[in-house]
Amino acid sequence: MITGRTKILAVVGSPISHSLSPIIHNFAYRQMGLDAVYVAIDAKQGYIEEVLSGLCFMQNLVGFNVTIPYKEAVVRLMDISSEEVNAIGAVNTVKRGEDKLIGYNTDWQGFLESLRVNDIGPPRSALLLGAGGASKAVAYALSRMGVERLYVSNRNPTRLEIFLRRFPDFEPVDWDQDSLSGLLSGVEMVINTTSLGMDGVSLPPVDLEKLPKGAVVYDLIYEPETPLIKWARELGLVALDGLDMLILQALFAMRIWFGDSPEFGPVKAHLLNWRGKDGGA
Ligand code: NAP
Repeated sequence: MITGRTKILAVVGSPISHSLSPIIHNFAYRQMGLDAVYVAIDAKQGYIEEVLSGLCFMQNLVGFNVTIPYKEAVVRLMDISSEEVNAIGAVNTVKRGEDKLIGYNTDWQGFLESLRVNDIGPPRSALLLGAGGASKAVAYALSRMGVERLYVSNRNPTRLEIFLRRFPDFEPVDWDQDSLSGLLSGVEMVINTTSLGMDGVSLPPVDLEKLPKGAVVYDLIYEPETPLIKWARELGLVALDGLDMLILQALFAMRIWFGDSPEFGPVKAHLLNWRGKDGGA
């Protein structure tokens, strides 16, 4: 039952109606026996600053997540930012201090931990597709893993240049089939951080048949099953979608807010069950 003592948490983004975060968090809070509720807030474009200052006046607000399209825009609105936020340039988790907003990023941890729970070790070489917000959290994680050869490709060269200023260890590759296919035989992990495939049809210009045996194909998109993941599965490659990362970044956020989180397994089982029954996907 929600009362005046119930703690409030939220995810702020736009559009937000299809977010799975309320399902993950509210189940986890019940598991932990917390008197807390997690809601989705659709922040009107152009008003993110006003929405955040409004949230600060809510005395029972513990914190909130930030999602598309505001992860980069809210960095400057934080009173304190973690070292990872400064490195990545994006915030996905905010803790409300006494009178301060403290920004964190748990996406990179979610990515790293998703490899661990799937028994995938650090690759020697990786190709990152995309240079948007999510790519930077993955790039930070890959850099921390000590991957020897790092490649990145993006359709928009200006965005790629901005990415490279933050992550100069990555080698840029042109966004075309010839340039990308040329290096695939030496790549152990391909990570799609673009939104290509969300329509269930589009594919990035990579020929997965050129990858070595045992290579990992990771798509940050978690629904629907993208053509990239489908193809990787057909070829017998190791294929991983973004659902585990989504759950794990949420569990890391709970540890920031409450110092604790439930186990990954039951939360994933609940989410899959919910999707099967109500989520459609
Ligand atoms: P973003 O900042 O808007 O970046 C979008 C990226 O997709 C850019 O690199 C963009 O390239 C590329 N792109 C979009 N349409 C394209 C097209 N038609 N052809 C080629 N490239 C295209 O978004 P984001 O926050 O990085 O999110 C990207 C994806 O990751 C989304 O699907 C999101 O749901 C997913 N994600 C998953 C998790 C998780 O926990 N699993 C976490 C974060 C994000 P240009 O620069 O050329 O436009």
